[in-house]
Amino acid sequence: MNLSQNLNDVLSRVEKAAIKSGRTLKDIDVIAVTKTVDVDVMSEAIKLGMYKLGENKPQEIKRKSEILKGDELQWHMIGNLQKNKIKYIIDKVSLIHSLDRMSLAQELQSKAQAKDLVINVLVQVNVSGEESKSGFKPEEVEDFIRQVAQFKNIRVKGLMTMAPFYAEPEETRFVFKGLRDLANKIESLNIEGVEMKHLSMGMTNDFEVAIEEGSNMVRVGTGIFGARNY
Ligand SMILES: *Cc1c(COP(=O)(O)O)cnc(C)c1O
Repeated sequence: MNLSQNLNDVLSRVEKAAIKSGRTLKDIDVIAVTKTVDVDVMSEAIKLGMYKLGENKPQEIKRKSEILKGDELQWHMIGNLQKNKIKYIIDKVSLIHSLDRMSLAQELQSKAQAKDLVINVLVQVNVSGEESKSGFKPEEVEDFIRQVAQFKNIRVKGLMTMAPFYAEPEETRFVFKGLRDLANKIESLNIEGVEMKHLSMGMTNDFEVAIEEGSNMVRVGTGIFGARNY
């Protein structure tokens, strides 16, 4: 595997899609998804400028952030979060992409308040309706956000979705367009304290389509680090 080559390839694909949608590479946050990736490989990626790191296991954020240190690093929690694991990441994450239920919001609020922290989150939406995917139904999102907006220690910064895997990435377009439309709608409601700043959508297989539909945050693992070894 040639990390630097992979990274250049991914960034040039991101740039092309950004330009196609009237933006530039700088407008898109590329989160390097480092689940299952060794810290020495991660350290190479960091040297190449990848400071935004995505993990789907809280314990991995804890473990890796104790080894890889640096003020420039940002840890992104992108996977299903169990309430009893909030403690591993509460003071380490820049952004939780996967707020997908009220009970998790309540527990995050209570843990963040106890530590006097403000936690930035994205609300995960299941646009496709696929049963295996977590997240709110699109029609539930407004109510949920209105409630979370009352929580003093949680800030909603946008939405996140995962598209189903299609061999043909073009087929995912309706999912990304659905999330974009929902974000626009929420934005127009001007809910106090709520921002639709980040639209986290697109992975290795489908990020070009996601960017064309307005994504400004893509989560890329395989494209940068090669196929995962579980
Ligand atoms: C693993 C993962 C990714 C990255 O997937 P790739 O196909 O390897 O780019 C993105 N988002 C989430 C939530 C993931 O779990």
